Amino acid sequence: MRIGYGFDSHEFRKGIPLKIGGVTLAHDRGLGGHSDGDVLLHAITDALLGAIAAPDIGALFPPSDAKWKGADSAIFLREALKRVRDTGYEVANMDATLILAAPKIGPQAAEIRTRVAELLGVKSDCVGLKAKTPEGLGTENAAIAQVVVLLEKSHG
Ligand SMILES: [Zn+2]
Repeated sequence: MRIGYGFDSHEFRKGIPLKIGGVTLAHDRGLGGHSDGDVLLHAITDALLGAIAAPDIGALFPPSDAKWKGADSAIFLREALKRVRDTGYEVANMDATLILAAPKIGPQAAEIRTRVAELLGVKSDCVGLKAKTPEGLGTENAAIAQVVVLLEKSHG
């Protein structure tokens, strides 16, 4: 077995859609930065890459490369998953914590888990998702994601 850990954060900006876990959430601001700013898919991608000791998301998909501007972050996750499978592993389960002041994730948590499970090729009961508010962290204008993923040797 292998375990991987991923962390990511993005700043909220006005005038862009909010995408978390491949799902668009209703909010007056989105996440700026690399690609579509999907903080959860980026942390999952880094957890997958970390589990097989591969280069991280920033090394594989440099933010300086204009090609990735506004890109669907599912592209990054799929590439990381391909590398995991090429190395002879499959995802057993993953668990994530989101830290953000708003919006509330609860109403769309099931939708996010379903979408992430689909991307990872696992059942949705293998995808854990919690959301916390940033009590005392002073990160009200950011979304943070922390992810752990467990890989198992694939059976042929
Ligand atoms: Zn990111």
